[in-house]
This record gives sequence, structure tokens and C-alpha cells, in this order.
Amino acid sequence: MTDAYSKHHSLFISDLHLSDQRPDITQAFKKFCVERVLAADALYILGDLSDAWLGDDDDSAIAGMLRETLKTVVDNGVEIFMLTGNRDFLMGLKFADYCGLTLLDDPATINLYGQQVLLMHGDSLCTDDTEYMKFRAQIRDPDMQEMLLDKPLSERREIAKMLREHSRSANATKAADIMDVNLAQVISQMQEHSVQTLIHGHTHRPHVHSLELPEQNIKAAKRYVLGDWDQQGWCITADKHRIDLESFPLT
Ligand code: MN
Repeated sequence: MTDAYSKHHSLFISDLHLSDQRPDITQAFKKFCVERVLAADALYILGDLSDAWLGDDDDSAIAGMLRETLKTVVDNGVEIFMLTGNRDFLMGLKFADYCGLTLLDDPATINLYGQQVLLMHGDSLCTDDTEYMKFRAQIRDPDMQEMLLDKPLSERREIAKMLREHSRSANATKAADIMDVNLAQVISQMQEHSVQTLIHGHTHRPHVHSLELPEQNIKAAKRYVLGDWDQQGWCITADKHRIDLESFPLT
């Protein structure tokens, strides 16, 4: 598959939700790094790489694996750009510096082989879920993050567990469509950043959508949604000529 792309291509992934509970996904990620990422110019990670991140002093096996795997990729000459999601929002500069990767803001506009592309985790687009948006504002607040990071690791571990359980029970009672993106929000963000292409994850609804951007008189802008790694892996490959969404077996 990779042979069909130009030597110059970039990869995008999100929502691997790496955890001790899913060694199969960890293995698939390591394999993906060796077989796919090392052949690319750059890897863009669009959030929720890890199912939890307690801070850059996180001493879990997953955290250690990520430090070493990503550092090896960068040491082999592949650039890594990463923005965080709602699970790994505490990934910070210390981790980034150790690996040699670049942290991106959410949203971020990049120049992808001559084309301006908007990158997001995607949760900021889910504005119909007002309860979640309130929670998001809290966890993205720098003062709140600082307060969390001041707590001992053991206490942060308990908080992370609590947040995961809360999210699971809250989402169980929500209608499916309020957890998807709000189209008006997508259009306004794309117009505000003057792009015809958006790539995001978070919703676990992998698809390539066409949409109109009236302000720019664009009839077929594209929104690429990455899938979560669960039953299979997902990535986007982009070169000068195309952007492809693809799934592949985890083993
Ligand atoms: Mn997410």
C-alpha cells in the first residue's frame, strides 16, 4: 500500500487509547511505527494516543513505551507533531522535549505539501453536547491543569479513573447525534481558518465528508474523520496529490 505513495508523504492517527488493558493495540502501534512511520516524512497524532496521561511524570508501562517509541521515530529522522485529546490532555512539554516532538495547539493550521489543512482533536466541534463542553472548558483551563499536576501521582491516578467512569456513564445516556460534531461549528471553523480541508478524530466515526463553505464559495470542502483503534487500526496517508483514509487489521 505504501509503495503507491510518493516518497514524501505524511501519516495521521488519533484515538489509539493505548492502555495496559489492550496489549494488542500497543503491539499494533509499535508495528505501525516500524513499518509505516519510518517510511514517512512526518507523523501527526491528533489526540487520545493514550487512554490516560497523568502528567509527564507518569510512570506507567504505556507512558514508558510511548517515550521510547516516539523518541526512536524522531531519532530516525521522522518529524512528529502532536495535539492532545480529552484523555491525554496533560501531555506536556517535558514529554515532547524528551521525544523530540512538536506539540500543536488545537486547532492548528499546517501546510501539507502546499495545501493549508486544519487539524483538531475534534471534541471542540461537539457543541451540541453542552455538558461535555463545560467539562472540556475545565480540563483545558491552565490553572486547573496546574492544580491537577501539583497533586501526587497516586491521587491523579484515582482522579483519572473517576473521570473515565464518569464519561462512560454520562455518554451511555446521551443520544448518539449529540456526541457527533455540529456541522455549523465545522463550517465556521473551516471558514475562520480559510481552509478547504479539515482532519480530526475523537468521534470514532471514520469517514470522508464533503461539505459546502458558502463564505468562500467552495462546493466540495473535505472533512476527514480518523477512526479509533479498537477492532482495527486507522490512519490517513497524505502526499502532494491525495489524502486517503484507510483501516488495517491490528495483527
Ligand atoms: Mn477524544
